[in-house]
Amino acid sequence: MSTETFEFQVEARQLLQMVIHSIYSNKDVFLRELISNASDALDKLRLAALRDDALGVDVSDLHIELEADQQSRTLTVRDNGIGMSYDEVIKLIGTIANSGTAQFAAELKEAKEAKDASAAEGLIGQFGVGFYSSFMVADEVVLTTRRAGEAEGTRWASSGEGTYTLERVAEAPQGTAVMLKLRPVDTEDQLHDYTSAWKIREIVKRYSDFITWPIRMAAEAPAAGTEDAEEGADEAPAAREPETLNSMKALWARAKEDVSEDEYHELYKHISHDWMPPLQTIRLQAEGTFEYQSLLFVPSHAPHDLYTQGYKRGIQLYVKRVFVMDDCEALMPPYLRFVKGVVDAADLSLNVSREILQQDRQIQLMRRRLAKKVLSTVKELMTSDAEKYATLWREFGRVVKEGLLSDFENRDAILAAASFDSTHSAEEPTTLKAYVERMKEGQEHVYYLTGESRQAVENSPHMEAFRAKGVEVLLLTDPVDELWVEAVPEFDGKQLRSVAKGELELDDAEAKESEAEREQRQQEFAGLLGWMTERLGEDVKEVRLSSRLTVSPACVVSDTNDATPALEAMYRAMGQELPPTKRILELNPSHALVTGLNRAHGEDAAAEGVAETAELLYGMALLAEGGQLKDPARFVQLMSGRLERAL
Ligand code: ADP
Repeated sequence: MSTETFEFQVEARQLLQMVIHSIYSNKDVFLRELISNASDALDKLRLAALRDDALGVDVSDLHIELEADQQSRTLTVRDNGIGMSYDEVIKLIGTIANSGTAQFAAELKEAKEAKDASAAEGLIGQFGVGFYSSFMVADEVVLTTRRAGEAEGTRWASSGEGTYTLERVAEAPQGTAVMLKLRPVDTEDQLHDYTSAWKIREIVKRYSDFITWPIRMAAEAPAAGTEDAEEGADEAPAAREPETLNSMKALWARAKEDVSEDEYHELYKHISHDWMPPLQTIRLQAEGTFEYQSLLFVPSHAPHDLYTQGYKRGIQLYVKRVFVMDDCEALMPPYLRFVKGVVDAADLSLNVSREILQQDRQIQLMRRRLAKKVLSTVKELMTSDAEKYATLWREFGRVVKEGLLSDFENRDAILAAASFDSTHSAEEPTTLKAYVERMKEGQEHVYYLTGESRQAVENSPHMEAFRAKGVEVLLLTDPVDELWVEAVPEFDGKQLRSVAKGELELDDAEAKESEAEREQRQQEFAGLLGWMTERLGEDVKEVRLSSRLTVSPACVVSDTNDATPALEAMYRAMGQELPPTKRILELNPSHALVTGLNRAHGEDAAAEGVAETAELLYGMALLAEGGQLKDPARFVQLMSGRLERAL
């Protein structure tokens, strides 16, 4: 049959180049990756056979086989799993379908071009390259595969340069065999002898012991003169039994004390395809009528696609040690979608579908319990390991806060596990509990301000009075903050209140002006306020005096129950048209510009300068909070005219 030559997709080629030029120092892990793929292929086949009798495949002896040949210096990893069709090989092996990996390749290339070695190293630590890691140890790889149910097989071969070849093969056993033509041993470069039975045993034990399928090493006639040869000298090679290298014990079913941290980490890497160890391991065993065991992991970094639609939740469902499905969304609420792991339930059918799981009451209970356990673990970390907690919250806090909108039952647990930036400290975020403990005498509310960045929020005019009085304000700058603050009325009996909304009454006694004073000011400015409200009526619903400002002349605030501009923008981005809400312009009655305007207005309300200054004040208030002007060109024109006249 004819052989065709194909080019790797550009990203795939780049990634391969990096693999070949040794971006990973520990080369042994190529075998972990190949075994991991083989194990997945076996899982898939067993499930396919369970669901489709007509598939007609033999699943009685599913296994992984390693075969080393010292003479030809090859190592073959073989499985009798699901296999791949011709087209699948092109799609799965010739291109990088995984968006995270593609992005990794692009970022890595950038870091290398910028000669930023530490950035490159950081990236490398985070991402695995799966099948391509073969090219760390081999200068040629031949993959032969036949998809279950198909008659013909496919052979793929490449030396990892720009191209690969494909041919159809008539006689291929079902499943996949990956044959590596090994590079010469170079211990300096950590290229070990991967034909050595001893080395293979060691690698499997270290990285793949928990794999639930037997990993066998085929007995092979060792090269003459080696130690292995002496040992087996009396036996005819054919009579040797293959040796099973792994214990196949599901970690979650073993006693806690018997499982080492390293073993957990390897299981994590297998299910998550993350090359970094997890941040935290969580075990939960439930006994009673509905029995299950679970082993959950919090990754140490957020994947690139965590916020995309297609993001797969990382919980695998097993039923009595048999893998049933990946990405089991019924087992983890969306706001904990970054949690990876395994749930092994005793009393479910192997045939259970996603739809049934979604509706199953036991599964719903299980999901609640798992969510609670994750949240309580996060909270525990706050005190037991502050550094870990800080990493976790930095990487996943934004996602967890989504739960404040969707998981009413766990709202308090989420608030208790959360931390927020605050004016209290430039470095350390605060918990709500600590905020409440620091509240001033007489302060009744938890104050916050939402916005785009800490800097913008901190310098916003809305903060002035709070800064002057030393009242702490939470600085909320994640997009999700705009949403949950609308939904969460209080914490620990203290109302949450935006410093940019409604009339401000600082809950501290001296801030409150005397009624008489206020009355008098109001009278002083009444003319200007009424006139401005009308003049700016298209944009604002009211112009009033402010008790928020100490330095700025003006600011714009939202009415207590109105959406903030950021929230409106979010709804619009989601395709929901809202009628624009008008906001309120507040003037600082102690500011020279405002008193000057008041005077000028009193003298001649129709003067051009008065109208222009009023308009400029409004524009400046918008700019100061980081907002958008409706007509920036006009603003600049007015401003330069005014400045010109002032010179
Ligand atoms: P990953 O395993 O991270 O998805 P790989 O590059 O290792 O990335 O593999 C890409 C895809 O190729 C796998 O997702 C799988 O669909 C397919 N594949 C790889 N190895 C095998 C195998 N032994 N049997 C069947 N399919 C495989």
